[in-house]
Amino acid sequence: MKNPKDCKIVKDLLPTYVDKLTSDETNIFIENHLKECDNCRESFENMSSNNEHNENNSINKRKVKIFKKINHKIRILQAIIIVIVLIFLIIVIRKYLILNHVETMAENTDFSNYYLKIVESTDRVTNRIDYYQNGDNFFKIQTKININNKIEKYIEYKFNGNQYYYSEIDGEEISNEVERDVEPFVPYQFLNKSLLGNIGLALFPNTLEETSLYKKACYLLKVDNYFNFIDKETGLTIKEINIDNNMVIDYSYSFGSVTNEMMQELIKQCTDK
Ligand SMILES: [Zn+2]
Repeated sequence: MKNPKDCKIVKDLLPTYVDKLTSDETNIFIENHLKECDNCRESFENMSSNNEHNENNSINKRKVKIFKKINHKIRILQAIIIVIVLIFLIIVIRKYLILNHVETMAENTDFSNYYLKIVESTDRVTNRIDYYQNGDNFFKIQTKININNKIEKYIEYKFNGNQYYYSEIDGEEISNEVERDVEPFVPYQFLNKSLLGNIGLALFPNTLEETSLYKKACYLLKVDNYFNFIDKETGLTIKEINIDNNMVIDYSYSFGSVTNEMMQELIKQCTDK
């Protein structure tokens, strides 16, 4: 039967019992007492519901902590991704602007008076072109060693309305025409002429770098095995290299240097022979 002394003992033990820290023997003693004593049972029920609440609370607190940690990590990751994307965008936009700038410079070049020397060599041919232009007058002489090791020579000019075309192979005259239509030379320029082309080039990594060539500050445009050195000052190509066919082409420009007297002298030299 219920012993009032037990009540005091049980009340003392209840907190430990609720926390499930009491021994099996004690548990039996407490449980037997609780069955008989309404007062102690009430205390026990109050305590255990409080304890449950506390447990739930601490679980929730732990959950919140974990969420905060995860959230913090996600924020850091987001920040890193944003920084990477920004850096990538800045690089791409900068490249795109450079390519457009180079194109615009090349397009706006005044080709009304200039001398251009092109020296080209590939697996198959070597080729040299000297081109002089002053207004509508131009003079072009080309010497080419072809695949059969034969030397081809072409001269063409338009001077004060007169046109002339001459060609020979290994010193043997092939053609000598006074009235043949000749066209002024269009110098090679790096020109994509398309927005998408430049965006594409800008998007690819390592397609554009700054370098120098023949003491000139250059942009080096690289596409696979093709290298194009572009003069920063003029936007014009000064060297092309294509590793696939061992092609090397050098371009040297001299603007505003060509006079009609110079051209007359060149014409005299080549028609005197
Ligand atoms: Zn009791």
